[in-house]
Amino acid sequence: MKYLDEFRNAELAKVVLDKIRKTVKHPWVIMEICGGQTHSIMQNGIDQLLPSQIELVHGPGCPVCVTSLELVDKALAIAALPNAIFCSFGDMVRVPGSDKDLFSIRAAGGQVKIVYSPLDAVKIAQQNPDKEVVFFAIGFETTAPANVMSVLQAKSLGLKNFSVLVSQVTVPPAMHAILSSPSNRVQGFLAAGHVCSVMGFHEYQPIALKYQIPITVTGFEPLDLLKGILMTVEHLEAGKHGVLNGYPRVVSEQGNLPAQALIKKVYQDCDRNWRGIGLIPMSGWCLRPEYAEFNAETRFSVENIKTRESEICIAGQILQGIKKPPQCPAFANECTPENPLGATMVSSEGACAAYYRYARFEKEII
Ligand code: SF4
Repeated sequence: MKYLDEFRNAELAKVVLDKIRKTVKHPWVIMEICGGQTHSIMQNGIDQLLPSQIELVHGPGCPVCVTSLELVDKALAIAALPNAIFCSFGDMVRVPGSDKDLFSIRAAGGQVKIVYSPLDAVKIAQQNPDKEVVFFAIGFETTAPANVMSVLQAKSLGLKNFSVLVSQVTVPPAMHAILSSPSNRVQGFLAAGHVCSVMGFHEYQPIALKYQIPITVTGFEPLDLLKGILMTVEHLEAGKHGVLNGYPRVVSEQGNLPAQALIKKVYQDCDRNWRGIGLIPMSGWCLRPEYAEFNAETRFSVENIKTRESEICIAGQILQGIKKPPQCPAFANECTPENPLGATMVSSEGACAAYYRYARFEKEII
């Protein structure tokens, strides 16, 4: 398939790997931000093929994993209401809240529907005028344009029974939080290509300058990832910092301006709590006051949520590159995809799920 097979070419991968081996002289810790990249790295064995000087750590770019426990619990409370139809992407359904998950709400008779697009939720609202239809609008910059489209569509249709539970987070503040932490280990980033396809990469230039690190915009296929790693290592070895575009077939410096305009029309910056990490100032988006009627948090009385996180789960440390899944005492023991203690074990972009699925069980790999 064009634009796919050519980026999975094993012979070319060997050539890039050889260049990486010849370039690297020192130990480096590089973080891939996106959970989709983590899974591709594991699936293709890239972590096992790299020279031992390069350590890959896994970032917070898994939207399901970082959605705050408080918002997950609010979603559960809304989904359990008798008059509600709660719509969510499939990944969210098995994410543990304080006591249960959306799947168990559905098993108990709640109307939880898996949708593939936010606009499907709008259609469900049109088809069910006697029900309150709520869409769980989670995600990074990538999902934001489609999520805001659902609000604009509902407004233009005059729907009064549609609302969104917004958990929208943004990448640059999380990078600041990781790099400014005293426990930071990250020396270079692979930035998420799909996020940059929306937002461009100009936002990363002040970060690269402030922390004197290389940040390489990177795609998701094996050759994209190897190229991103090579570009980052070349900069690290040369003592250079800056933003590099390793995904120019998709990403431009300014990104998708019409999509950014749509986001700005509906959302404004706000503080966000990241699950396991804590509050990161101005690290997300909330609905603007003009769209307050679509805010599920105020439409339903779900303010007094008392959260209770697993005491064992170290997902927050994993999402900051401080630890890796096999270092969690529960990994593959008490915590499995069938019985998850944390979101990172059930999300299709979660680091624990990737380590489990691709059998990276050994603690020695750390
Ligand atoms: S293995 Fe389970 S308990 Fe441990 S960090 Fe991952 S999700 Fe949390």
